Order: sequence, then C-alpha cells, then structure tokens
Amino acid sequence: MSKNKRNSRKSHVPAGAGIRPVKSLGQNFLIDEEVIGRIVEGSGISKDTLVIEIGPGTGALTLPLAEAAGHVTAIELDERVIPGLRVKTFSLGNVDIIHEDILKTDLQRLISEGLEKYGLKEVRIVGNLPYYITTPIIMKLLEEHTGAESITVMMQKEVADRIAAEPGTKPAGAITYSVHYYADVTRITDVGRESFYPAPKVDSAVLRLDLREEPPVKVSDMDLYFNCIKAGFSHRRKTLLNSLMSLGGYDKAEIEAALHRSGIEPERRAESLSMEEFAELADSLKEA
Ligand code: SAM
Repeated sequence: MSKNKRNSRKSHVPAGAGIRPVKSLGQNFLIDEEVIGRIVEGSGISKDTLVIEIGPGTGALTLPLAEAAGHVTAIELDERVIPGLRVKTFSLGNVDIIHEDILKTDLQRLISEGLEKYGLKEVRIVGNLPYYITTPIIMKLLEEHTGAESITVMMQKEVADRIAAEPGTKPAGAITYSVHYYADVTRITDVGRESFYPAPKVDSAVLRLDLREEPPVKVSDMDLYFNCIKAGFSHRRKTLLNSLMSLGGYDKAEIEAALHRSGIEPERRAESLSMEEFAELADSLKEA
C-alpha cells in the first residue's frame, strides 16, 4: 500500500489529544478510521443495543459506537482521560464513562441496570483491549454470564490466532478450548501495527465471540473439564499421560485407566484432542 493511501485512512482526531500514552496501561490508540468502521460494523450493534466498551482511552471507538448504538457505557482505568472523554461525548447524550478497573467491575449489575434504565433489548461488549490483560478480560467476560450477545475485541494477532484455531488442531492451546466452550468465534479483521499510535511491536486482529446458548459438550464437572485442559497443555511437548500428572489428586494408573476408558491413546498430545474427547476424559476421571 502506498504511503499516501495509508495516511488517507488515518483519523483527523489526534490520537490522545494531549494525553501521553502509558505503556503499562496498554495504551496504543487507534488512528485508522477504516479499522474503526470495521469494528463498529463487525460488532453487530444497532439502536437497540447497550454497548459496554472496555478501555475507551481517548474515544476513538466510543464516538462511532455511540452513533450506532442505543447507549454506550465505557469503562476506563486511566483517570487522566476521563474528563476529556466526558466533554467529547456529552453532546451525544447516550454515553456514560465509568472510571474503574474492568477486572473489578460488577458487569452483571451494570448491564441489568443499564438495560432497564435505557429501555434497551440487548448487550454487546466491544473494545480495543489493553494487551497486558487480554486473557483475564476475555475469561471474565465469558465466565460471568453477563447475558451479552457478543464480545468484539481487538487483541494481539498471535493471541487471536490461538483463540480462533479449531480445537483439535496444532495451533490450538488451552484458551482455544475455553473460548470455544462459551462462544462461536469469527475473525472480523486483521490490523497492522501502523493503525495505532504509538505503533505496537506486534500486529493485531479483531475477533467476535458470539455467546452460545448451550455449550457444545456436556460435562458432569466443569472445573475438572477445564483443569484437564489446563493440565493437558501445561507441558506441550510431553505426552498427554505425563502432562495430566500435573492435575494432582490422581496417580498415573488412574489417569491411564481414564484415558483408556475414553478411547484416548496416552501418547497423544493435548492439541490433538477434540472438545468431546476432553469431556469424556473429564467424566471418566470423575468416575475414578
Ligand atoms: N479504545 C481506545 C482506542 O482504541 O484508541 C484505547 C485502547 S488502548 C489499546 C486500551 C485502553 O484500556 C487504554 O485506554 C487503557 O487506559 C485502558 N485500560 C487499561 N487497563 C484497564 C483496566 N484494567 N480497566 C479498564 N481500562 C483499562
């Protein structure tokens, strides 16, 4: 792409407008209007939607989201950006800015109160995530039963590749199985590092996670199911039998027997197992 073409996509709103980006808060502000448009469009929001935005920063996404949504509630940790954000969004009349740590926010309460207060029908979560806490944020959003239809989030491309991988294939990791248990994953767009200020050292991608009504596998003990996955991936180079020893509470013979009952060869590697196989293994260990 020519330099001029690339520049023509850049936002005319200066990223940060006087705010010095802080690395420890994961502050890489979006400056690419085309990417912003793809995120807003890809997130499936309408005037019936309450949007929960994570990390609005200086508002690159907040304003376009507010134009498309019924209401936007944005949660931001950096107090320096709060006054500017409130000024920028005041005239729109449909944006709340909450100064809080997303990892400590009571999302269920925030969402149920928001839906009632603004008379809206659905919730969607959107954000250009602070990369230093991508996984804890995603897991919180998935595990907390917020009632959201979808979660559309920008993250480091490498993490997106892992999450978007099919369970049972080589690029899969423990997070693949966790996310696919809760959601259908769609890749909205890849985003080059030049679309941010300051430019990060890595490229990014936007995924949409559509929350499932029912999980794709049934397990009798969900904690044990997730612990099996975690243990299975704890030593990627080891066989499944050896990795599962880190589960604790089971000896080698018990694990071997559970693998046998589930029809899984003990020499296999975790990433070769389907979600159904992990479910059978967890149920079989539960019996043990
Ligand atoms: N949405 C803006 C954009 O796209 O230009 C900013 C995105 S920037 C990658 C991540 C934002 O998350 C920053 O504004 C940062 O201050 C904020 N943030 C970092 N940690 C946070 C936390 N624990 N809770 C809420 N916001 C956080």
